[in-house]
Amino acid sequence: MRDLSTADLIALDRQHVWHPYGPMPGTREPLVVESASGVRMRLADGGTELIDGMSSWWSAIHGYNHPVLNDAVRGQLDRMSHVMFGGLTHEPAVALAKRLVDITPEGLEHVFLSDSGSVAVEVAVKMCLQHWRSLGRPEKRRMLTWRGGYHGDTWQPMAVCDPEGGMHELWQGVLPQQVFADAPPAGFDAFDASYADHLHELIGAHAGELAAVIVEPVVQGAGGMRFHSPGYLRALREACDAHDVLLVFDEIATGFGRTGELFAADHAAVAPDVMCVGKALTGGYLSMAATLCTPRVADGISRGEVPVLAHGPTFMGNPLAAAVAGASIDLLLGQDWRTEVKRIESGLREGLAEAAALPGVKEVRVLGAIGVVQLDHPVDMAAATDAAVRAGVWVRPFRDLIYTMPPFVTGDDDVARIARAVCAAAKEG
Ligand SMILES: *Cc1c(COP(=O)(O)O)cnc(C)c1O
Repeated sequence: MRDLSTADLIALDRQHVWHPYGPMPGTREPLVVESASGVRMRLADGGTELIDGMSSWWSAIHGYNHPVLNDAVRGQLDRMSHVMFGGLTHEPAVALAKRLVDITPEGLEHVFLSDSGSVAVEVAVKMCLQHWRSLGRPEKRRMLTWRGGYHGDTWQPMAVCDPEGGMHELWQGVLPQQVFADAPPAGFDAFDASYADHLHELIGAHAGELAAVIVEPVVQGAGGMRFHSPGYLRALREACDAHDVLLVFDEIATGFGRTGELFAADHAAVAPDVMCVGKALTGGYLSMAATLCTPRVADGISRGEVPVLAHGPTFMGNPLAAAVAGASIDLLLGQDWRTEVKRIESGLREGLAEAAALPGVKEVRVLGAIGVVQLDHPVDMAAATDAAVRAGVWVRPFRDLIYTMPPFVTGDDDVARIARAVCAAAKEG
């Protein structure tokens, strides 16, 4: 039994607890979740069940309370929940690193484990800057990205988020000034050679001061849920090679099958110099992320006057998180995940088709297990969320977007139900 009534819990929450991108005190009442199992969350209101259309922000790909993942955590809990990683190591972290090296694009061989996606991006930026500094080129310390991106909420990631929606105005003069290319033209199937030229030119023009280019491959997530041609990843690879600039892929949202390939980079068969993963890494169980790099990047750092990567989170390599991450990857690779993602993709295509004809809807797009309805106006969050909840589904719209990325274990009926709820939200929102 809980000590607090649901009403007390909500009141205390609003008084004391920050929520993502929220005001203090909170203005909207959050829903109280009591438990979650499979693709359903059970609310504390006496039994409402909601299908999670968000996979808890891309992470819970296998659903909740999964017996295999539960066992992985429990088994590890009985051995040790944590030890420091400085001077010590352990099987869960080593085995996870080896798995990540094996399944990520060719050439990524070294793994830095951290506790969240934003930190993984910080580490990626630090690796790139330190690589050039160690090689005697400290002037190569800026990052280039394209508009419309999202890379996290700490300072370096914020500086490469979309300057329009990414709080840049608020932090002008505080954030490092990075170089921005135009947003990639929309559409997975539409390759625009003149845009590839734009990338080449901009990278060439700034090469002397650029440490690296950082992008989200194929899907720009929280910056606007936009899809683009994998061809631009090849263009970036060529331009970076030609101009001695490193290439970073942020696969924190796209990794582990979400877009229909294991990693979005695989759509283009392009390997970056540095890659970040997070979110679905632990199947949504615990907070962990990783930054992988090539021997070239690591060697560059090792040859410097400070030959170490000066970063070391307290909970680096956390055994519980590493154990469940390993189990989650095995669970994913041990099933026909590609077919499951395709199945959800066709379910979303079919179910969301009717939204395209709704007044106020600008575009419907689906790629892998991601479905997006873009409105021609800012979404009324409260109305859209309530409409989805009435339809039995949890979604979290933002800006002009109502979108879903269901757990891969979502059955066909539940995918259809999610699509209906997104349509209902689009109608009301
Ligand atoms: C969510 C996200 C991040 C930040 O990860 P956190 O774990 O929230 O810090 C970075 N990059 C991308 C592409 C993301 O989707």
